[in-house]
Amino acid sequence: MKTTAKIANIRNIGIIAHIDAGKTTVTERILYYTGRSHKIGEVHDGEAVMDWMPDEQERGITITSAVTTCHWQHTEIHIIDTPGHVDFTIEVERSLRVLDGAIGVFSAVEGVEPQSETVWRQADKYKVPKIAFINKLDRIGADFFGTVRMIRERLKAQPLVLQLPVGSEDNFNAVIDLIHMKQIVWDDDTLGAIFEEQEIPGHLAADAAEYRDKLLETLAEHDDDIMEAYLAETTVESDALRAAIRKATINLKIVPVLCGAALKNKGIQPLLDAITRFLPSPVDIPPIAGMHPETGEVIQCHPKDSDPLAALIFKVSMMEGRKLSYVRIYSGQIRSGGEVFNPARNEKEKIARILNMHANRRERMNIAGAGSIVGVVGLKRSSTGETLCNQNHPVLLEKIEFYEPVISIAVEPKTHADQEKMDSVLAKFMAEDPTLIVRKDEDTAQTILSGMGELHLEIIISRMLREFNTNVNVGKPQVVYRETIEKPGSATIIFDKEIAGQRHFAEVSVTMAPLPRGSGNKFVSEISNDILPDLYTAAVEKGVWESLESGSQMGYPVVDVEVRLTHASYKESLATELAYTVSASMACKDAMNAGNPFLLEPIMTAEIFVPEAFIGDVIGELNSRGGKIESIEHKAGAQVINATVPLSQMFGYSTNLRSATQGRGTFSMQFSHFDRN
Ligand code: GDP
Ligand code: MG
Repeated sequence: MKTTAKIANIRNIGIIAHIDAGKTTVTERILYYTGRSHKIGEVHDGEAVMDWMPDEQERGITITSAVTTCHWQHTEIHIIDTPGHVDFTIEVERSLRVLDGAIGVFSAVEGVEPQSETVWRQADKYKVPKIAFINKLDRIGADFFGTVRMIRERLKAQPLVLQLPVGSEDNFNAVIDLIHMKQIVWDDDTLGAIFEEQEIPGHLAADAAEYRDKLLETLAEHDDDIMEAYLAETTVESDALRAAIRKATINLKIVPVLCGAALKNKGIQPLLDAITRFLPSPVDIPPIAGMHPETGEVIQCHPKDSDPLAALIFKVSMMEGRKLSYVRIYSGQIRSGGEVFNPARNEKEKIARILNMHANRRERMNIAGAGSIVGVVGLKRSSTGETLCNQNHPVLLEKIEFYEPVISIAVEPKTHADQEKMDSVLAKFMAEDPTLIVRKDEDTAQTILSGMGELHLEIIISRMLREFNTNVNVGKPQVVYRETIEKPGSATIIFDKEIAGQRHFAEVSVTMAPLPRGSGNKFVSEISNDILPDLYTAAVEKGVWESLESGSQMGYPVVDVEVRLTHASYKESLATELAYTVSASMACKDAMNAGNPFLLEPIMTAEIFVPEAFIGDVIGELNSRGGKIESIEHKAGAQVINATVPLSQMFGYSTNLRSATQGRGTFSMQFSHFDRN
């Protein structure tokens, strides 16, 4: 059995890309050349190694972040496959959280597309160093320098071009390596496994020299040694150059740019070299900060095996009926058979097995140490976003941010047998996916699923059927609303009841007032302890929060209000917490009704790509759906419309857009905020 590699030889990386840029194809090649899979699976054959869920194969997209370990030049690389579809940004977000470096894969034809821009910005937020791989250089319309420009302009990054493509479109057959000043040519007969370094052909020598000079010039801005050498015009050795690139990449100053055509088996080995050479190991990044669960004291978790354990569960999935937790270990070690402590639940858990995950097989390990990402079997209660630590050294790592579910559907089991299975299947899905919310509608007795988008829920329904043979009838998708009020409203409730032989008395007055959009809710008490003892004020507060969970209009959560306790009377012998909680809750409902309640709906930001010829129709259609156009940008024969639009108006939009643009328009959409339509 195995333990993890030396920490400095670990790379935890993710591949971020717009859908169809070639992320899966690149990953497949990486697995092939690192010797882990023995056959290159093609995406269009539906047999790629990473895309192993039936749903993914059918849709040709990657949904779950499967973690895959491979080895290159004494380095252990853990690849987390991040999804490209916006409905699953949550998956991207939580994988970015545990990565140390990322590769942005861009299609040389489409350049930097909106979803890769979204994910790139998320990666910026987490300060993840990045490398760019410009793919599909064999395709007609491939534009290497155009894509480099977009990396600079759209992503506000400083690209550092390390390679030049040789030949274009069908004639793309090699790259020039500007560090070694060589040409690299791949052998087609071995699927690119064999490649050769050659002298740069004469007719390309001038271009190569020019771009080598640009490379040095750009790097000199970020590195004093290179600056000195550059000014003195002395030769810079490859080693020194690589060290400077590594430093500037890790410090987020530059993004090294490489290129190739994954499908044609070109460019992958230098990309692997770049991962090991330029992206950080867990010891090259700042220690992660955690918090003592009781004292709140900040604890720095260093990437050392000998330090107390600090690990984050970033994903939970069900594997052959068992719960598999994906864990990033920041400090310390875990052992199979060992115990860990979950401070959020104040519970001990047992690690039954540690698994090193490959896309299609798993390897058991005895110990996993700091810096690694492994699968763990045996955790019963712990879930996504929670910390595992040592009970004697408790620490809480920062939670992963989740997005709001904005779409819901009602589901009903088809048969009695389905009824029995449905609840347990849904409970499993909820354990895996914190953005899926399941509740029972008390009026209709239906089960309501809420999620991040139509596709998210469609995939859940289809997995219920395929993986668990559970058949359900599905209602129409509905938008998930919020409720709030227009003006302040007040109410007084006197509660005086005998329940099970005891009198319960309370009197409270509350005022509910609107707050600006996005403020959240606030509770304020104007009553001092000598008028109403703190114990009962706390009971009032409890009632207020409970009441805000479902509004008076349609039972959606209430947002952006301040509730003030303005008056309370107190009778020592008759006061009970129950009475104050109930009366506060009732007073809230009445105050809300007095404040002109209304619904807030999810507003989305949409980016729509439209060929020039159809722009008028598409804008007209958007306006009729209540969309607000924020900007229109021109891009390579197409227009990109940025708009905000109420989600409720966007059902069926993709079909509509396709038919209005002869199938050429595309769009992506993301939740922005709740607002009045
Ligand atoms: P993903 O959605 O980012 O995972 O992209 P895929 O890897 O699924 O690739 C999308 C499509 O582009 C597939 O049909 C691939 O075969 C194709 N593709 C990927 N890389 C290349 C390339 O280098 N050249 C060409 N011509 N096609 C490619
Ligand atoms: Mg894919």
